[in-house]
Amino acid sequence: MLVPMPTWKAERLGEQTWLLATGVNAGLWEGPDGAVLIDSGGDKEAGRQIRQALEEHGWTLRLIVNTHSNADHVGGNAYLQKQTGCRIAASRLESAFIVDPVLEPSFLWGALPFRELRSKFLEAKPSAVDLILAESGPIPGTALQAVPLPGHFLQMIGVLSPDGVLFAGDALFGEEILAKHPVFFLYDVAAHLSTLERLESLGARWIVPGHGRPVTDAGALIAANRAALKGTAEAISSFCSRPSGFEEILAELCRSFAIELNASQYVLVGGTLRAYLSWLCDRGVLRPSFEGGRMLWSSG
Ligand SMILES: [Zn+2]
Repeated sequence: MLVPMPTWKAERLGEQTWLLATGVNAGLWEGPDGAVLIDSGGDKEAGRQIRQALEEHGWTLRLIVNTHSNADHVGGNAYLQKQTGCRIAASRLESAFIVDPVLEPSFLWGALPFRELRSKFLEAKPSAVDLILAESGPIPGTALQAVPLPGHFLQMIGVLSPDGVLFAGDALFGEEILAKHPVFFLYDVAAHLSTLERLESLGARWIVPGHGRPVTDAGALIAANRAALKGTAEAISSFCSRPSGFEEILAELCRSFAIELNASQYVLVGGTLRAYLSWLCDRGVLRPSFEGGRMLWSSG
């Protein structure tokens, strides 16, 4: 008899802690009175795959903790909450985006987004957040700890299990992801650099990036993520050796890093470019000026 292969994959990383790979990594911690899921994958289909894994392992889902509100990490929330009645926990700012997901494309575009931006890649289905988490400290009713990892998004947290597995959200990208996408999404460059330092000092046994393979010794991967960030910052500074507008800098960035734009990529890469411009401006590397109805950025 042909047994269909499951599309999800459960991998044990600790005594009570599992990685559920559904395209985007989710984590699972087996608590004394039910399972806690860390992130829920990119869409309803990921939610279905997670539900299959829950059923096959006999886990009862009690709580989803979202590391952050990006659609690829909360996309299974609505389905799983409807099917299981589980609670959902997130930090204060991230929870606003989970409850009202139109905020993500609105935030990226800077106004009501046009229809093409309102796809599942940027706008998940809404779900109800029952528990607002502090960025740091114990996650109520569990033995899990929240760890502040801001930078990629407004108030991202990591989730550390008592058996030493840290689910790091998008604070860190796996080698294979970094090789394909060296310009990764950022909201706050300075906060992200501090987050990379914090990751180094946590001493977790496993670090699980949201995208890519888990690592036991994260030093090399953290260095690779930092180097990619520095490379992006240097490239942007060099494009401004003559005064350049946002669209010109964006076009140079896409040319240099072989990025192909579509509507979603435009707002994601564009938002990231703005994050770098803010950081470089506040450090005195670049300065804005206004000329003939254009905002221009220049170095020196
Ligand atoms: Zn992600």
